[in-house]
Amino acid sequence: MSNINFSKADCKNCYKCLRSCPVKAIKFENEQATIDEERCIECGHCLTICPQSAREIKSDLDTVKKAINCGKKVIASLAPSFAGFFDLQQGKVVSALKKLGFSIIEETAVGAEIVSELYNEYIKNNKQDVYITTSCPSANYLVEKYFKEIIPYLIPTVSPMIAHGKLLKERFGQDSFVVFIGPCLAKKSEFDSYSKDNVIDAVLTFDEVNCWTSELGIEINELEEEKFNSNPYSKGQGFPLGGGIIEAMGEKLQENQLTVITVSGMEECIEVFNSVQNGDLKGVLIEASACKGSCIGGPVMIKNGENYYTKLKKVRNYIESRKNYNEPKHTEIPENINFSREFAQRQVKRVIATEEEITAIMKEMGKYELKDELNCGVCGYNTCRIKAQAVFEGMAETNMCLHYMRTKAESLANEIVENTVSNIILLDGEMNVREINPAAQSIFKIQPQNIIGKPISLLIDDEEFKKVRETGESIIGKKIAYPKYGVVFIENIVYLPRQDMVLASMINIMGEEKNKKELMKVKENTLNAAQEVIQKQMRVAQEIASLLGETTAETKIILTKLKKIVAGEDGE
Ligand code: SF4
Ligand code: SF4
Ligand code: SF4
Repeated sequence: MSNINFSKADCKNCYKCLRSCPVKAIKFENEQATIDEERCIECGHCLTICPQSAREIKSDLDTVKKAINCGKKVIASLAPSFAGFFDLQQGKVVSALKKLGFSIIEETAVGAEIVSELYNEYIKNNKQDVYITTSCPSANYLVEKYFKEIIPYLIPTVSPMIAHGKLLKERFGQDSFVVFIGPCLAKKSEFDSYSKDNVIDAVLTFDEVNCWTSELGIEINELEEEKFNSNPYSKGQGFPLGGGIIEAMGEKLQENQLTVITVSGMEECIEVFNSVQNGDLKGVLIEASACKGSCIGGPVMIKNGENYYTKLKKVRNYIESRKNYNEPKHTEIPENINFSREFAQRQVKRVIATEEEITAIMKEMGKYELKDELNCGVCGYNTCRIKAQAVFEGMAETNMCLHYMRTKAESLANEIVENTVSNIILLDGEMNVREINPAAQSIFKIQPQNIIGKPISLLIDDEEFKKVRETGESIIGKKIAYPKYGVVFIENIVYLPRQDMVLASMINIMGEEKNKKELMKVKENTLNAAQEVIQKQMRVAQEIASLLGETTAETKIILTKLKKIVAGEDGE
């Protein structure tokens, strides 16, 4: 499967996707979101909601282009919700698809018409307490993965896409290339599960088709309108609307005396499936769509920017216009085609943590007692304990808790501010003290309650603080003495424009200054002493030198004498 996921480079770890995921199928590892294929029901809503557009959607576009370039008979099965997506007359959309290289263009409504007939037939021949329609792949995955007890209530009939694909292959040959074009990402996975059956060859979204026409510079509005290749149907066109399937089933449904319940959006689907599972609902036909407002609220439709009701109006108008043009008529259901399907249990395997394991994880999340459990849902999980279970299952990380991280950061910051030897003072724009740390309290010999909210000028001159606020230019490393307090500071003053605050961090260097003075004195004394010694030495040296000079002179006389004796010059 895995047709959709998040692009790691763009994920900014905000958990918005997880908050929107109805089945919590998004895993966070190393602060990056990934979709867990086993749990995901492919509704696609997390991708449309991501503020960073961090999405990766597998595309069949290249395969379709290749099929066209190879000269294959490429057929488009166009979902009826196209009228809500494209802001164009339907004939122009048909022309655009022809221009792209599609040789046959039909509406998926052809398949929808067959499906509604088959639903009627199934209900007539199979007595059950509950029937659930199965045209929405995400609703089907929801039942298969999370409501296995109610799988028998799913009507075992293929979706309109598959029904139409089967018809098209029958009519145009197995080597034709059928492309479904619609608003749904889950259809990509549905197509995958039929890949061996040669029914549908590719799935494109309206968005992908739109990009393709732009890429080729096709001005759709300027094209002449063309007609669909098939006989139009009218009932099946209502399928993308909430209640459309049931409407298409017509009068035959009334014979069965079933109460019809239409649900759309995951919350409603989950609620109704819970009721069925609990045995609260009997004698009902449930039409379930995972997207709010059915296919018109599909993930690709949402990205189109227009609001849901504008799209609804466009689709309704389109359906009406088709009714005017053509008499509604039912298609014959070809007997040689098998339109039935089976549903499988795909239940997600979960290991539930013991109470001790949960408690240990809760501690790692900074939840030591009941009051620490805020159950705020910011992390994407409704309660802290559910989140702890998700951590246990490897789906979440302990640091995914805003409050825990904030408390941790605050206590770390507090520790630093409380214990630093720097004197830290925070002033508001009016030069009133907002914070003063213990080091500064001790230097200025003041209790916080006596200075917080009061002007800094009560302690020291505020000129420099004001200047920093007015100019925005920081003062860094300036030496300043406050003799009143017996201190010499190296001052750093910065302005925080977003908070309109001035932060001063001052290090008292009085000790060093004192040391410096003492050192100077020692140096001076040493110098004087050294001078004295030198002078004495000089005197001694001079005396030695003069003595040495006399001795040398005497030696020279003796040696000269000796030399003369040896040389016989001395007649003595
Ligand atoms: S919505 Fe999800 S994928 Fe998108 S940035 Fe937030 S955490 Fe990441
Ligand atoms: S596609 Fe739907 S089910 Fe899957 S992760 Fe996203 S929101 Fe959850
Ligand atoms: S307090 Fe933290 S763990 Fe609990 S629900 Fe809120 S964000 Fe999630």
